[in-house]
Amino acid sequence: MDLYRLGEEIRDAAAPDGPVETRWERRRFEAKLVNPANRRKLTVIVVGTGLAGGSAAATLAEAGYRVRSYCYQDSPRRAHSIAAQGGINAAKNYRNDGDSIYRLFYDTVKGGDFRARESNVYRLAEVSVNIIDQCVAQGVPFAREYGGLLDNRSFGGTQVSRTFYARGQTGQQLLLGAYQAMERQIAAGTIEMFARHEMLELIVVDGRARGIVARDLVTGEITTDLADAVVLASGGYSNVYFLSTNAKGCNITASWRAHRKGALFANPCFTQIHPTCIPQSGEHQSKLTLMSESLRNDGRVWVPLSSGDARPPGQIPEGERDYYLERIYPAFGNLVPRDIASRAAKNVCDEGRGVGPGGLGVYLDFADAIERLGRHAVEERYGNLFEMYQRITGEDPYGVPMRIYPAMHYTMGGLWVDYDLQSTIPGLFVIGEANFSDHGANRLGASALMQGLADGYFVLPNTINNYLASGPFDRLDASHEAVVAARTAVEDRLARLLAVDGDRTVDSFHRELGHIMWEHCGMERTEEGLTKAISLIRGLRDEFWTRVKVPGTGEQLNQNLEKAGRVADFFELAELMCIDALHRRESCGGHFRAESQTSDGEALRHDDEFGYVAAWEYGDLPTLHKERLDFEYVHPSTRSYK
Ligand SMILES: Cc1cc2nc3c(=O)[nH]c(=O)nc-3n(C[C@H](O)[C@H](O)[C@H](O)COP(=O)(O)OP(=O)(O)OC[C@H]3O[C@@H](n4cnc5c(N)ncnc54)[C@H](O)[C@@H]3O)c2cc1C
Repeated sequence: MDLYRLGEEIRDAAAPDGPVETRWERRRFEAKLVNPANRRKLTVIVVGTGLAGGSAAATLAEAGYRVRSYCYQDSPRRAHSIAAQGGINAAKNYRNDGDSIYRLFYDTVKGGDFRARESNVYRLAEVSVNIIDQCVAQGVPFAREYGGLLDNRSFGGTQVSRTFYARGQTGQQLLLGAYQAMERQIAAGTIEMFARHEMLELIVVDGRARGIVARDLVTGEITTDLADAVVLASGGYSNVYFLSTNAKGCNITASWRAHRKGALFANPCFTQIHPTCIPQSGEHQSKLTLMSESLRNDGRVWVPLSSGDARPPGQIPEGERDYYLERIYPAFGNLVPRDIASRAAKNVCDEGRGVGPGGLGVYLDFADAIERLGRHAVEERYGNLFEMYQRITGEDPYGVPMRIYPAMHYTMGGLWVDYDLQSTIPGLFVIGEANFSDHGANRLGASALMQGLADGYFVLPNTINNYLASGPFDRLDASHEAVVAARTAVEDRLARLLAVDGDRTVDSFHRELGHIMWEHCGMERTEEGLTKAISLIRGLRDEFWTRVKVPGTGEQLNQNLEKAGRVADFFELAELMCIDALHRRESCGGHFRAESQTSDGEALRHDDEFGYVAAWEYGDLPTLHKERLDFEYVHPSTRSYK
């Protein structure tokens, strides 16, 4: 049976050419501008108040646009970005250890396993230095060295220290910066904030994105909101796996609704599994907890040398331990990128050398660091993470090694955007984790915050002008037929979910979907497994629409109804992820196809066949559009961290 059809190739028409280091400068110069007096006449809807959406809303409002900002939490500063722990990269070279914009560009293209665009990645590296200045000016309390300079640490896939951090709470501190900037604009009347509102549909009029349909999550009221452009900053979709490190509310609905309205979805199967999470403790669990990658600066990863060794870690002598990352990858050691570290952990567990319940764990040991630096220094760097670990597991990581295991964490795939961050629907821009743009098949640690803030503070506020310069667009009101149709579609869908009145909870469906995805579209993927997953997902989706039970009504706070809508969209996304993973018969980054590996078990790419972005068009039969990737600067090579 055909699972998809092949469409026309696409290209990024907004991308400038010429030397890579001049492209962003040129694009900014060539993009049209909107004069300050005209900006007041233009309205932009921003869905999402995480680091991407918060920074974008504040910056657009500061520039003079009228902004209407949405989030489903009770406050913009509860966006999932607040959970980010370890840090944010920037090519400042404060350590004088050989870093540069070019090196950050190089590391990111290589780290993404040559599946990202060079132009975008270079711009990201270039803008990274401005982000730190911006955040320091806002008062973000980055960690400092004794002399007062900003401190840096290392993250995976690099040999320099370029990660700026605020203990293990970097996301929270950065978000407070963006939130304060937003609040200033809210007070000034340039941002109107709609908290506890969920976007459930995109409004497209004459081919342009012109607004959204949202539901007030407290009263259940359905509203339509119209504007000159819409920005989605709605985050990633790791929760399609049910268990992930993401906040429970993270979902795909905003992006998926846009996809159904014509926005292409790129590389949906590129997902990131993070190697250092607290292992799952049982079937009852609904969330996993990350232990930041920063811990691998000082923690050493090991398992017993022989399988089945059940002695407590303290009783296993040095000579009977296998520090397998240091052994296999001596050049990067414990700081290999996430995809490599996750697979290595899986391999040693598959060999029967895993530790803890079910043998699904490896040790992350700080004994050497505590001896070398003293407990106080370790506490200074990671205190809140150690406390979190102790509270969850009941074990003291200062005394016994942490136990960690890979878990779903981040999604590199997302809505397709051009160099201007505009989707295939004119007027719909997508920023932060919600787009696919900069990380290829594997994101390096501390690069998501960098991308979110680069997009929100610096890139979008420049590129969106080029689009808005043709506005203001025709005035619309709620009676326009496209607006009425979008609103009716939302009402019908909610009514349909409530009407099923079956006998299974939304969570039970979500958990089962997550099992299928983790089993067959997780750390290792095979043709057989993915084919099976597609049929299991289709069966479960049909069952969902006949057996789901959504108690309550739509005219009240109803979290079951919210979840049901999100899970319904996860079903459709999950199928597309498996189709994408099945068609990409190569391994690259986080996408490991068992049929495509080197003799020593590393990912084996096939650049000649798959050196492209897979951009999917919605339809009963999805259509694949390929965007070829060209590498002029960082030439594709076998990615080695040995
Ligand atoms: C535990 C953890 C630790 C991490 N640590 C790091 C780190 O140290 N460094 C790093 O670089 N990255 C880290 N990451 C990744 C990083 O935090 C995220 O990729 C990033 O914060 C995403 O930001 P965002 O603005 O794109 O989306 P989010 O912060 O997820 O914000 C999404 C926003 O969209 C809104 N929204 C979504 N859908 C709708 C809808 N339908 N209607 C209305 N509003 C909607 C939400 O309310 C929210 O405001 C970490 C991730 C996790 C899970």
